Amino acid sequence: MNTFQTDAENTLEAVAAQGLYRKRRIIASPQGVHLTADGRELINFCSNDYLGLANHPDVIRAFKNAAGQYGVGSGSAHLVCGHSAAHHALEEELAEFCGRERALLFSTGYMANLGAISALVGSGDTVIEDRLNHASLIDGGLLSGARFKRYRHADLEHLTNTLAEASGKKLIVTDGVFSMDGDLAPLPAIARLAQAQDAWLLVDDAHGLGVLGEKGGGVLEHYGLDQGDVPVLVGTLGKAFGTFGAFVAGSDALIELMIQKARTYIYTTALPPAVAEATRASLRIVRAESWRRDKLKRLTARFRQGAEQIGLELMPSPSPIQPILLGDSRKASALSEALLDAGILVGAIRPPTVPQGSARLRVTLSAAHEEAQVDRLLNELDRLKSLA
Ligand code: PMP
Repeated sequence: MNTFQTDAENTLEAVAAQGLYRKRRIIASPQGVHLTADGRELINFCSNDYLGLANHPDVIRAFKNAAGQYGVGSGSAHLVCGHSAAHHALEEELAEFCGRERALLFSTGYMANLGAISALVGSGDTVIEDRLNHASLIDGGLLSGARFKRYRHADLEHLTNTLAEASGKKLIVTDGVFSMDGDLAPLPAIARLAQAQDAWLLVDDAHGLGVLGEKGGGVLEHYGLDQGDVPVLVGTLGKAFGTFGAFVAGSDALIELMIQKARTYIYTTALPPAVAEATRASLRIVRAESWRRDKLKRLTARFRQGAEQIGLELMPSPSPIQPILLGDSRKASALSEALLDAGILVGAIRPPTVPQGSARLRVTLSAAHEEAQVDRLLNELDRLKSLA
């Protein structure tokens, strides 16, 4: 056996010994509250399809029609011959939705973050990130070649001190809603600080857009902030919008800079145009059907109240991401497995996705859930609480 093979096997054994081995499930049903996973019927509490749009008939219809009109593949990158009328219309609608001059589509949120950060800062500059930022934001900061600094989660004093030591152009980067904790960044204060220190601010609102704010304007609408406060906004389309892809929204100059400089925009195939058309349909629903956000809020409150009654440790999250903190990775895995046996799918989140000693079950709610399903989850958690 060669060295590489032995190394790989040793690494895998070590990962397994720590209870950190990751496995995929094979899903045979459409996305939704009811999933067929590995041949079993389950109630799904781990999707990011917060508004229940991934399988909405209008979105499916738009996708099918557009595949008939445009075909399946986009053929090339946007700057070659892949930028379709569907992409262009979606960009204009997303810009309007976010109250920005322009928006630019990227093929994934991961790529939007890598591309945007490394287009904005480089060698001689400083990028300053919340410690709990999503991996794509961290990787974007590292890839940029700028000095890379992290501040303690949502800690304004630490951010202020870190900013004071920064050199060159300064870019503050934060999640809007933290993906594994569900809490919100203290954005009004961060925005004030950024303005006072002449720093740029990039907010990734992957989990807030469509969900927070009366109109679904995300964390910015939640706080009453506008584009002057957060010049660079990243949104993803695979969560509340129920489709796929991502965008950066901001000023005309920002978007032109992205088109000229963001390597993950320039050197990759554009999204299928049918995905853009499907997203136009889902954006119409996101805007028109505020009842989905209202229902999601009610379900979230119901879950929190019930979980607190059982005595589970929740986090200070106002979003549909509702982690149950367990600490130990094996405990998180055991509870997730026991829920699975009861027909409920909730993901166990373990290091390195979250810090050591903070393994958790990440419950996510969707407007497609019914109260009875939330109650069933709570009943099972009550029954299994000795594992927590
Ligand atoms: N940002 C955040 C905060 C995320 O949670 C995610 C995905 N989970 C991404 C970016 C990446 O988006 P995508 O899945 O479109 O690559």
